[in-house]
Amino acid sequence: MIINKVLIVGAGTMGRQIGFQCALHGFDTVTFDVSEPALERCRVRHRRFARLFVEDRGIDQQQADAALARISYTSDLPAAAREVDLVSESAPEIPEIKAEVYGRLNDLCPGRTIFTTNTSTMLPSRMAEVTGRPARFVALHFANPVWSSNIGEVMGHPGTDPAVFERVLKFAAEIGMVPIRLEKEAAGFISNALLVPFLMAAQELVADGVASHEDVDRTWMVMTGMPMGPFGIMDLVGLETAYNIACHGAEARNDARMRTNAEYLKRQFVDQGKLGLKSGEGYYTYPDPAYKDENFVG
Ligand code: NAD
Repeated sequence: MIINKVLIVGAGTMGRQIGFQCALHGFDTVTFDVSEPALERCRVRHRRFARLFVEDRGIDQQQADAALARISYTSDLPAAAREVDLVSESAPEIPEIKAEVYGRLNDLCPGRTIFTTNTSTMLPSRMAEVTGRPARFVALHFANPVWSSNIGEVMGHPGTDPAVFERVLKFAAEIGMVPIRLEKEAAGFISNALLVPFLMAAQELVADGVASHEDVDRTWMVMTGMPMGPFGIMDLVGLETAYNIACHGAEARNDARMRTNAEYLKRQFVDQGKLGLKSGEGYYTYPDPAYKDENFVG
């Protein structure tokens, strides 16, 4: 299973990072999106990533130029799918959109092409049939930012060909990820199975009035030596996403505590447009959040 050419589906937050990472590691990379403006934004971001990598991440200009030269951009799926060896799909987290994309990809890609999804919440077994090639379908889940939180979690479904699973683990390592093997399907992979309960436990302490968000963060930072606590992380993830996670927990498990968390996040933040880092204000204000002050932890 030789992998030379990678097709990135979706040029948004994740797809553009994954595409750059693949190109940087020597893979011919074609980026597909249904939106021309999204492709243009992706092209601009890739140039910016290249500059940042030269300035901060120890690559030289020649390597940056070579990476950019390996990437092409198109809204023409038949052209994008030609001779592709592996698809990395980062289309929106909407089942109907993903199903439609996979239906078209299965018709257009060579039979050998491996399909991988970057879904955060859907189990591969729920998507396997719509890909039209369940044996060659596996989740390869990235974290954001792809190059510094460089985990590549690989999760198959009962019908995944074990050789495909192993090849995708190897591919993850080839593009600079730390490959992580999930032995069976689990909602949220390892990363979110750990992170979500942690964030929600912190949120509960504040929603219940047990302590301030600063003191919860301070406790975690002093205890563990980490550079930020759960509320710094929540601002980074986005408070709308934190709200959606709490809503999902409340509904899926009829969990009253998650409902309290969701209501608190909506009232205090989401309804006021305070979404965390991306809006400039959330639990902290940006660009200089209080937790980064050297006196924050005392
Ligand atoms: P995004 O909204 O930033 O980007 C999605 C892109 O897909 C957009 O550019 C949109 O134009 C494009 N798109 C829409 N319909 C399409 C179609 N039919 N075919 C191809 N492209 C289409 O989303 P994102 O944050 O990059 O998330 C993408 C996937 O990655 C989701 O499954 C999400 O769960 C997963 N994910 C996100 C993160 C994160 O931190 N954002 C982390 C890990 C995994």
